[in-house]
Amino acid sequence: SLSNRLQSVFGKLRGKGKVSEDDVNEAMREVRLALLEADVNFKVVKDFIAKVKERAVGQEVMKSFTPGMVIIDIVNKELTELMGGTNAKLAKANKPPTVIMMAGLQGAGKTTTSGKLAKLLQKGNHKPLLVACDIYRPAAIKQLQVLGDQIGAPVFSLGDQVSPVEIARQGLQHAKDNHNDYVIIDTAGRLHIDEALMEELKQIHQVVQPDEVLLVVDSMTGQDAVNVAKSFHEQLELTGVVLTKLDGDTRGGAALSVKAVTGQPIKFAAMGEKIDSLEPFHPERMASRILGMGDMLSLIEKAQANIDAEKAAEMERKMRNAEFTFEDFLEQMEQVRNLGPLDQILEMLPGMNKVKGLKDMKVDDKQIGRVEAIVRSMTREEKLKPEILNHSRRKRIAAGSGTTVAEVNRLIKQFDDMRRMMKQFSGMMGPKGPKGGKK
Ligand code: GDP
Ligand code: MG
Repeated sequence: SLSNRLQSVFGKLRGKGKVSEDDVNEAMREVRLALLEADVNFKVVKDFIAKVKERAVGQEVMKSFTPGMVIIDIVNKELTELMGGTNAKLAKANKPPTVIMMAGLQGAGKTTTSGKLAKLLQKGNHKPLLVACDIYRPAAIKQLQVLGDQIGAPVFSLGDQVSPVEIARQGLQHAKDNHNDYVIIDTAGRLHIDEALMEELKQIHQVVQPDEVLLVVDSMTGQDAVNVAKSFHEQLELTGVVLTKLDGDTRGGAALSVKAVTGQPIKFAAMGEKIDSLEPFHPERMASRILGMGDMLSLIEKAQANIDAEKAAEMERKMRNAEFTFEDFLEQMEQVRNLGPLDQILEMLPGMNKVKGLKDMKVDDKQIGRVEAIVRSMTREEKLKPEILNHSRRKRIAAGSGTTVAEVNRLIKQFDDMRRMMKQFSGMMGPKGPKGGKK
C-alpha cells in the first residue's frame, strides 16, 4: 500500500546519519512512484514532489542530524496541504434552512451519505429533512425512507411520478413550513455523466439555490473519481466533496487528488456501511494515516470524549516517548472498554497494523478479563520492567492468574511488539529523534 511504500522510503533515510542530495533525490523518486502507484493524478504528483523538494532544500535537510524526521515532517505537511490543510466546515445559511444538495455517480453513496449526514446533524441538535429526488433507480425512495426511519428523520417524497425538480421545490417549502433547519436533497446518479442528468441537476440547483453542493465520490475508483469530480464541478459549482468507502482497500489516489483538481475541499469521509460512519474530514489526520503514523489525533479525541482527559493526555505522552509499561497497558485496557470495539482502536495506533497476530487477535470482554488477570498477577517491578519476565516468573504468573504459560507468553510478545512499534514511531517523530541512526 501507499502507506507501506512511504514508510520503507523513510525507513531507509532514517538509517543514515547524514544524507546526501542524492539520497534525498532517490527518496523523492520513490515517493513519486508510490504516489503514482496509488493512482494519484500525474500533475498533482509532479507539483507535490517539486514543493517537497523546494522545502527540503530550504530547510537544509542534508545538514540535519535527523534528516529522515525532517523529510517526513515536510511530506506530512505537504500531504496535509494537498488535501486542503484544515477541516472544511459545512456551509450554513444566514437564514435557515441550509440546503444541501448531494450529487454524484450511481453507487457512489449519495443516498447512504444523505442518511449519515442527517444523523450527524441530528447529533448537533439540528432537524434535517431528507428529500427523495431519485425517481429513477428502483427502490431509491424506499432506501431513503428506511434510512430516515432508522434515525428518526422525516423524508419528503412525492413518489416517482413527479419530476425531481418539482419534488425539490416542494421539499424545500415543506422544510420551511415544518421548521427543519437543514434540507438534504438526495439526487439521482448515472453510471456515467450524461447530459440529461446534468440538466436535471442544474434545474434542481436553480430552484433550491443550495448553500452546499456536495459531490459524493467513491474513493475506490481512484483517478476516475477525480475526473468525474472535475466535470461535475464544471457544470454544477460544487462546494465540497464527500469521500466514501474509505474503509475499503483504497489506494489513496482520490483523497490526494480531488482537492488539487477541483479546488473543492473534502468535507466528510465515510468509512463504512453503518449509519454513523461519517466523519468530518481532517486533512492532517488523513496525512498521518497515509504516512502510517496511525490516527493518533482521532484516537486521542475519541479517548478524550470517553476517558478522563488527564489520563488521555498522559497516555499520549507515554506513547510518544515509548515509556509505556504493563501498568499503563492495564489501565488503558480498562479505559478502552468505554471506547468501542478494541480492534478498531488498535488499528488507529501507530504501527499497529504491522503487529503480527493482531488481526487474528479476537478481542472480547472475556479475553480482556484474562489479560487483566495476567497483568494483575505480575509484581510491580515486573509490570514496569517486563524484560525481567523469565520462564519461572511467567510460570508463577500463569498459575496466579489461572491462565497458561502460553497465554502469558503471547501477551508479553504482543506487548513487546507494541512497545517496539511505539519506539520506532517516536524515534521517527519524537523530539530527540535517532542519533547517528544506527539500528
Ligand atoms: P447512490 O447510488 O450514490 O445513492 O449510492 P448508495 O447510497 O445507494 O450506496 C451504494 C452502495 O455503497 C451501498 O451498498 C452502500 O451501502 C455502499 N456504501 C456507501 N457508502 C459506503 C462506505 O462508506 N463504505 C462502504 N463499505 N460502503 C458504502
Ligand atoms: Mg441513491
